[in-house]
Amino acid sequence: MELLKAAIRDVGQVLNDNVLKVDSFLNHQIDPALMMAVGEEFARLFVDEGITRILTLESSGIAPALTAGLKLGVPVVFARKKRSAIMNEQAYHTQVYSFTKQETNEVTVLKKFLPAGETVLIIDDFLANGEAALGLASLVEQAESSVAGIGIVIEKAFQNGGAKLKEAGYRVESLARIASLSGGHVAFVEDLAQVK
Ligand code: 5GP
Repeated sequence: MELLKAAIRDVGQVLNDNVLKVDSFLNHQIDPALMMAVGEEFARLFVDEGITRILTLESSGIAPALTAGLKLGVPVVFARKKRSAIMNEQAYHTQVYSFTKQETNEVTVLKKFLPAGETVLIIDDFLANGEAALGLASLVEQAESSVAGIGIVIEKAFQNGGAKLKEAGYRVESLARIASLSGGHVAFVEDLAQVK
């Protein structure tokens, strides 16, 4: 998605060879117009899958999930990373190891917001080693619903999450795929393909 790649090139900050910071449009400040375009692209890609619900993880998945949900006309649910005192109802739980925080969080969603028999689109901001997406998929499967696909805003294709999710049988669609962050430079998968 060219608009997204342009934003990554223009304002993305390469923190090291493994981490990209995009807090000026996705992870802290949010660019609503760009998020609308991201949601429209997810909707275009998954419109034929019969999606009935979107599941994401707080907090950075919420903006792209919301715009995709608006476009597809389905509810958006975000799994919580911290158990809240008011969450005293029946819930599904799973453990997710966080790539950026290097800690394991228990991720929770209330059963009433993830009923059985739904066709769920999982959305997240980044794909690194696939832990977050696999955790969300586990919640969907616990609910006896099915995962119709996984939509990722930015995939770091040099990490193994994409391969893991595809091996597990999931359809994965990433709007920007980064081949390398070496030397402080963002190289997209397509850029490298053109060089070869
Ligand atoms: P995974 O679970 O696939 O290993 O990592 C994905 C999760 O870690 C995403 O939910 C995202 O919040 C975070 N993450 C992974 N890599 C990056 C990165 O390069 N930059 C930022 N901002 N977040 C990342």
